[in-house]
Amino acid sequence: MNIPKKVKQTIEKQKLIGKREKVLVALSGGKDSTLVAFLLHKLGHNIEGFHINLGLGKYSSDCEKAVEQLCKDLGIKLHIHNFKEHHGSSMCYLRTSIQSIPGKKGLKNCAICGVIKKWILNREARKLGFKKIATGHNLDDEAQTFLLNILKGAPSLSANTGAITKNGGDKKFVTRIKPLFYIPEKEIRKFTKKRKLPIHYEACPCALDSYRIQLRKFLNTIPDKDKQNIIKNFERIHPILEKKKKKGAVNYCGVCGEPCRDKICKRCSLMNSKH
Ligand code: AMP
Ligand code: ZN
Repeated sequence: MNIPKKVKQTIEKQKLIGKREKVLVALSGGKDSTLVAFLLHKLGHNIEGFHINLGLGKYSSDCEKAVEQLCKDLGIKLHIHNFKEHHGSSMCYLRTSIQSIPGKKGLKNCAICGVIKKWILNREARKLGFKKIATGHNLDDEAQTFLLNILKGAPSLSANTGAITKNGGDKKFVTRIKPLFYIPEKEIRKFTKKRKLPIHYEACPCALDSYRIQLRKFLNTIPDKDKQNIIKNFERIHPILEKKKKKGAVNYCGVCGEPCRDKICKRCSLMNSKH
């Protein structure tokens, strides 16, 4: 697969990035987001990097080092958000305290971390004046999420996904784009290893999200073609899911003021024992 060509096509066909538009790339230090920054830069887009240091010991400092090296190599600006400084503890500590709230014990590590990272990314990108955030989500991630939502009996949760998510174009919501939406993980690994990009390949030590991991293992046994078919099915039903989505204006969270669907955003309801 010619990854740069396929990514360029995705950007053009799905209108991910406008002319001269600045994009903030959410960089974890892993292979996917590193490749996004590398390719967007190569394709001539105006990008800056944003990294959240989650405070997970050596793992987090290795991720930060990889991101710093990448931004230095590409000559792009990097914003570092130190989780401990902003939130008073590491992600691990905060997550454990959420899981100790009655009724929240069953919440999975990655689910909690994902909600909080999304909240930080939207808020910080907006403060920095960006209208677009690019993430490293790839074909395998998206096939997993779509199937997971179906297995949960809640396909409507996939309404807010896709290569581009605008969430009704609300002014406080920063549009999210996924330039690797159609690229299989195996291809990304091959490409990044060959190019020797500065990447921390170790998996997050907190990633114990068992059902998703089980599903990932299963998806690793099927050909990429079948994963592409899962995504084709997603694209067929996506317009229906979007139409059915709760109509009406986006709300602003009563606690933090961030845009959300309900009265309180997902991050604040996680943190609060009453919601
Ligand atoms: P994950 O939820 O860990 O699978 O990550 C999905 C995407 O979110 C990655 O490809 C990155 O673009 C972004 N991301 C994950 N972790 C971080 C982080 N620590 N800092 C900035 N962006 C991140
Ligand atoms: Zn909130």
